Amino acid sequence: MPQVKLKVQLLDVTQNATGLIYAACRQCYSAKFAGDIFEDTKDDIVKMEEFIQKVAESGHESPLEHVKFTFAICGVSRALTHQLVRHRIASFSQQSQRYVKAVDFNYIIPPSIEEDKHLREKFIRIMQDIQKGYDEFLQSFKKIGASGEKVNQDARFILPQAAETKIVVSMNCRELLHFFAVRCCNRAQWEIHFLADEMLKLCQDKLPAVFKHSGAKCVKLSYCPESAQFSCRKFPLKEEIIKKKSQV
Ligand SMILES: Cc1cc2nc3c(=O)[nH]c(=O)nc-3n(C[C@H](O)[C@H](O)[C@H](O)COP(=O)(O)OP(=O)(O)OC[C@H]3O[C@@H](n4cnc5c(N)ncnc54)[C@H](O)[C@@H]3O)c2cc1C
Repeated sequence: MPQVKLKVQLLDVTQNATGLIYAACRQCYSAKFAGDIFEDTKDDIVKMEEFIQKVAESGHESPLEHVKFTFAICGVSRALTHQLVRHRIASFSQQSQRYVKAVDFNYIIPPSIEEDKHLREKFIRIMQDIQKGYDEFLQSFKKIGASGEKVNQDARFILPQAAETKIVVSMNCRELLHFFAVRCCNRAQWEIHFLADEMLKLCQDKLPAVFKHSGAKCVKLSYCPESAQFSCRKFPLKEEIIKKKSQV
């Protein structure tokens, strides 16, 4: 029953993402047809990237919806995916606990527990007890003649949020910018924050014109919109900026 680490792999990105966003952006301001713009500017990557960056940073984000990124993610907890699937402008395909038996299930240990020898031992002991209980339920169901996913779907009720899961996620660029704004923030929970940072690196590598300056919302705003209680103080609070301006 091993402890596992987060892994995220970029499975696919919409083909010719830069050309596609560029043609969509230009269509808004041009008398020309996007099909011709797409053909004409095929090779001028620098020009297209500069234009996309300007448009995206101005807040005109709908052209970004035409490009989609798909990620395969494993080594994450059910606690993480419960938060991930709250993002509604996305598509998800997650490993089922009905069809996949949790035999020798993997789990994620939070850093605060990992760092403390006694807490770590306690955590692992509890995971082992849960596994034992799960296996006992499978045996009990077998004895009363139940089988297949009907057994797994009820036995899984005792599995922990720490149980490892695997998921495929697709998001368009606009949703990714929003996802990074809220989940790369230091206020976000550590596991989804780490996942978002890893996804951001993959996006920046593939499509810098859109993602070069993206990240936590404060990165774009140059102030922290959170309350004083929750702010990490990487940037000044909004009210501090307003107060400063009113004093000038
Ligand atoms: C630090 C942090 C703490 C959180 N704590 C809690 C908590 O305690 N409890 C809890 O339940 N959730 C919590 N959440 C989850 C949060 O409330 C959102 O459900 C989650 O971040 C998904 O983001 P979203 O709803 O902004 O956007 P998405 O679902 O990703 O959608 C993107 C954007 O599309 C628009 N949109 C999507 N659907 C609609 C709609 N139906 N109507 C109007 N506009 C729409 C919105 O502008 C939205 O921002 C927390 C999130 C964070 C980052």
